[in-house]
Amino acid sequence: MAGLYIHVPFCSQRCVYCDFYFTTTRRDEGPFTRAIEVEAERLGHEYQGKAPLRTLYLGGGTPSLLTPDALAAVVGAAHGHFDTKALEEVTVEANPEDLVGPEGADWLRAARALGVTRLSLGVQSFFDDDLVFMNRAHDAAQAEAGVEAAVAAIGEVSVDLIFGVPDQPFEHWGANLQKAVRLGAAHVSTYSLTVEERTPLHKMVALGRVVPEGDETLRERYLFTHEYLLGQGFEHYEISSFARPGHRSQHNQSYWAHETVLGLGPSAHSFWRETRSRGWRWADVAHLGRWQGLLLGGESPIEWREQIGPDELADEAVLLGLRRLVDGLDLDVLERDYGVDLLTDRRAELAALEGAGLVDVRPGRVRLTVEGAAVADAVALRLVG
Ligand code: SF4
Repeated sequence: MAGLYIHVPFCSQRCVYCDFYFTTTRRDEGPFTRAIEVEAERLGHEYQGKAPLRTLYLGGGTPSLLTPDALAAVVGAAHGHFDTKALEEVTVEANPEDLVGPEGADWLRAARALGVTRLSLGVQSFFDDDLVFMNRAHDAAQAEAGVEAAVAAIGEVSVDLIFGVPDQPFEHWGANLQKAVRLGAAHVSTYSLTVEERTPLHKMVALGRVVPEGDETLRERYLFTHEYLLGQGFEHYEISSFARPGHRSQHNQSYWAHETVLGLGPSAHSFWRETRSRGWRWADVAHLGRWQGLLLGGESPIEWREQIGPDELADEAVLLGLRRLVDGLDLDVLERDYGVDLLTDRRAELAALEGAGLVDVRPGRVRLTVEGAAVADAVALRLVG
């Protein structure tokens, strides 16, 4: 089984922290949906039989900027060229401002009719100060109304929130979590504000106009989030992801379980697990015009492609498995599928990490503790390579 990701690159404005591929200047849906159809046909021709879809995920960018007709064309391209008989989950990312008012209601009705089972909302904060700082297109009232409308129309809603916005009072972060829960989100993803290169935020920091929050503040917020959402009945099942029981993101779990996830759209990445010891990763060109031109001209839109050998696959399995805080890294699977005996190969590192309270080693499993999850990258790097 596999997942299919479709990248919709349109955005109404540029959020200061964003380093995804998107465009605010072009929103010509005709060529985009035609190119998606062509790419779905190309990829489906090769993988339809090998990769029946379990999940479909439209991300971006801002898929909720697609008109209902364009949304139908994109979802239809997946159904038309892949085996979707066993499809369990169809997620669409949406921004709150697109879901309010009569147009928002129309869009939600269309999404529901197309079989969308889950919406992932880029809320980031329910406070105007934070939203203005991040240059989000919505305000606090739209954030709240958008979540309400999504929950009423689709039911299954994930809310993305960002912590570590400079000078954000601690109470605001607590109130953000509280509001997401009160509004009925069954899933919450929380991310710290990260200063990525080539973003407006990077420039603001370089010019000294913004001072990022320190590690200790971020750690406190992270631990608070864990405590608060567990207290509300959520499970902390992945480093950044919290879900009510039965409401995990199936699509994202495919990435963390190292399963095949194919991608369509400009900048989309694909991972094809061909055999236990061989995989392939590739990415489409990250430019809407070039990507469309290649596909509509009958050429491949792939910018690079690499083969992944057994050692690299094994390292990836460790890094991804550690992200799963509840399920943990399955040591039997690691040995059976990747030939790695972590308990023997990394005995000293595991003992040191366990002694520091960063991992929990049980028969057959290694899990990050919440303290370990707060510094997950550093922990994981001690167990690979
Ligand atoms: S809406 Fe999302 S993809 Fe678009 S600029 Fe903002 S964070 Fe990036």
